[in-house]
Formats: sequence, structure tokens, C-alpha cells
Amino acid sequence: MVRELGDGVWLLELGLFPPLASNAYLVDERRLAGDGDGLALVDTGLWWNEPTVREELGAVGYGPADLDCVLLTHYDLDHVGGLNRLVPEFDGPVAVGRDDLDLLEGRAHPALMHHKGLFHRVSRRLFPLPDLTLEPLGEGDTVGGFTAYHTPGHNPGHVVYHHAGASAAFLGDLVWAGDDGGLTTPFWGDSYDMAELRESVAGLAARIPAFDVAAMGHGDPLVRGGDDALSALAGRL
Ligand SMILES: [Zn+2]
Repeated sequence: MVRELGDGVWLLELGLFPPLASNAYLVDERRLAGDGDGLALVDTGLWWNEPTVREELGAVGYGPADLDCVLLTHYDLDHVGGLNRLVPEFDGPVAVGRDDLDLLEGRAHPALMHHKGLFHRVSRRLFPLPDLTLEPLGEGDTVGGFTAYHTPGHNPGHVVYHHAGASAAFLGDLVWAGDDGGLTTPFWGDSYDMAELRESVAGLAARIPAFDVAAMGHGDPLVRGGDDALSALAGRL
């Protein structure tokens, strides 16, 4: 189901149940104050979520051809798998964290003996990103009204996107929704380095501007007090 989280910001609920359920988000900057005037999709689900992405975009009056850009929080199949199937209708730029793009394009070599490194060495061959303009992002880089924050740990090039006009942070797999209505860290087996991830949570809580909507990759997004929930998690770690 698609759900409006605030003016111009929608949650696209993809998949049936965790861990196969993931979130994508649609942001229409033309409906927001501040920088940017594009229609952006943040993350794209697994490849078999693509009919749902289309359906949920359609339910709020858009299609893949209307998207001006796709922003990826990180290169994992449950966040990027659906992208290939939105092409060629979607033909815009794709923003992705620089270190994940290096990994994906073979300039960085994740450890073979690491469970996720091995997984990425296989998945980058089998599931490359489509032949579109790939824009590497680092800390502080902007796309329209989105600002990227480099938050390694889950993946080396994981980024969080803050959007002031939407009062939202798109958190990917830096944090997940917790059982207590707050935030928690992802399952260790899904991440490169949990210590680095915890440092990224603390560092992000200290430097990201205020936001209400905490839009994470898995679980129910928070629509109020997102920054407080992030600080609370950083305090607990
Ligand atoms: Zn994920």
C-alpha cells in the first residue's frame, strides 16, 4: 500500500513481510518549500517488487517516466533490484554513495572471507545497475533538496538523505524501525561492520539537521520526532 507521510512524501510498501519487505519513498519537491523541483524515488525494492512500485506510483498519479531521479541509500538487492525494470521508461540519473559505486564497478574489492564481501562480489556481477548516469555522492553532496550523509557500516558507501523541505531523513539500512515505536540497528549478519555502523548512528545524530519523518528501509516509518528517535538510539548504543 502507498501511504502519504506528509505533504509531497509517500511510503511505497514493498513485499509481504520482513526480511523480504522493504520500503521505497517518493518525494515530489514541487509540493515542498525550499530547494529542488524534481520527482524523486528513494530506493527501489527487489526486482520482483517492480509491479508493486508501478502500482503504488500509479495510485498517487505518477509513473516511472515521471521520475526525475532515483536516489539509492546503498547497493543491496532489496534496495536496488527493482531499478532495472523501471528502465527505459525511467532514464534519469541515479545517485549512489561513492564507496558503493566503487565496489559495484570493481574499483574496490570487498574481502572475500567476509560474508557480505563475498555476497557483493557475486551480486555485482549478476545484478549490475542499469546503463544510466550514475552519480557518486559523498558527505554533503546535494541532489535537488536532498543532502547526502555518508554513514558507513551496513555498506561502505551507505548514505542517508536529509530533505529540509520534507522535514525527512531517508535512513536506508543505517537504522530500522524498532518494536518499541523507536529505532534500532539492523541485524548484524546483514552488515559489513556493526561497530562502524554504531559510530555512524552517533555521528549522524550529532550532525544531521532536524527532521520529523524517519524514513527507514525496513519497518514502519516515524512521522514525528524522527531526530529525537535517532538521538535516543545513539544514546543507547
Ligand atoms: Zn535492506
